[in-house]
Amino acid sequence: MISIAPPNPPWITLETTSKPEGYLSYYYSDDISPLPIRWVTKPGDNKSDPNIETSTYGLFSTCSPNMRRGVVKSRRPYIFFITNRNGVRVLTGYYYIQWYAEGAFSGGWDFCIAANGMRFINPPISLEEIDRRFGSTLSRYFRPFKEIPHAICLELKALLDSRKDFTSAYLEEIDRLERFNLRHGGYRYLGWKQNDKFSWEYASEYLIRYFQESSVQVTHKRAKNSNPENKWICSECNYIFINKSLLRRCPNCGELASLQAEDSLGMAMKGGL
Ligand SMILES: [Zn+2]
Repeated sequence: MISIAPPNPPWITLETTSKPEGYLSYYYSDDISPLPIRWVTKPGDNKSDPNIETSTYGLFSTCSPNMRRGVVKSRRPYIFFITNRNGVRVLTGYYYIQWYAEGAFSGGWDFCIAANGMRFINPPISLEEIDRRFGSTLSRYFRPFKEIPHAICLELKALLDSRKDFTSAYLEEIDRLERFNLRHGGYRYLGWKQNDKFSWEYASEYLIRYFQESSVQVTHKRAKNSNPENKWICSECNYIFINKSLLRRCPNCGELASLQAEDSLGMAMKGGL
């Protein structure tokens, strides 16, 4: 089997500037876990990013499209992950992005990004402590992401690199909570009926389009990744379901980028912002 993991196609190397910048990226973490892993058990809105199993972001979800586009277009490779633990905003880890690929919602705004380096720590470090240490203002409220300058990126990376690497413990904890979902809901991810663990083998179902078509056709306007009723319809199989976020694949037929918001009149709402 041909590997679809970077640096193989469809992945493209992200060329960075001499003083690359980055982002703080907020994610929901799982309250039932002692480690601040992503919210695997979130009802009606299971989280697949940051996907540390593949060290990617946006390959399996439609979260933070503007940040992903900024990484690619503005060549900002650093992503520092922030979450809320007991009311306190904390830094948990980072990605150093080295590759990107165009996402299934084509049109130049949807990118998947992949890291060449990552590290997640425990206990996480409060943003207030970081601000005291570096004279920064990272603890000011933002959602869901914020640009940060080169110098702060270097400070945060050095700080995280000085702490013990808990990434493998995070991976075990993600698997444990996925098995909790499986036991209680029948799927590791009920939202899109997924029983497999995330892996590069599983990712082929998301990237297969690149090997079926020489170029992805621009058929989709910029898709809304949420809608007031959380109701979505598949243009391929007409399956209708409820989920808080737009999914990349139809949970029923597996088609990519085929879902759109459905309003209360049963009319699909196409495109728009
Ligand atoms: Zn479908």
